[in-house]
Amino acid sequence: RACFSAGLSFLSAPALMASIALPLSAPPNSVADILTRDSGECSICLEDLLQGQTISRLACLCVYHKSCIDSWCKVKSCCPEHPFD
Ligand SMILES: [Zn+2]
Ligand SMILES: [Zn+2]
Repeated sequence: RACFSAGLSFLSAPALMASIALPLSAPPNSVADILTRDSGECSICLEDLLQGQTISRLACLCVYHKSCIDSWCKVKSCCPEHPFD
């Protein structure tokens, strides 16, 4: 019995890790973060990026609210300011 349950957790662990590492709506190479200081304006909603908000930093170093870039990436999977050609 002990062997059986150990086998089960071995099987389910990789699936769990994959679902954490690959959120469906995130753009490629984006990193979610909490802003430690005010950081200008979000070009998607045109509201200020304020300290303490959850943001996403893209590979091109653009920063947007995480919720904004998540909605954007349902339409286009790239940076709004630096579309891939
Ligand atoms: Zn925004
Ligand atoms: Zn960009």
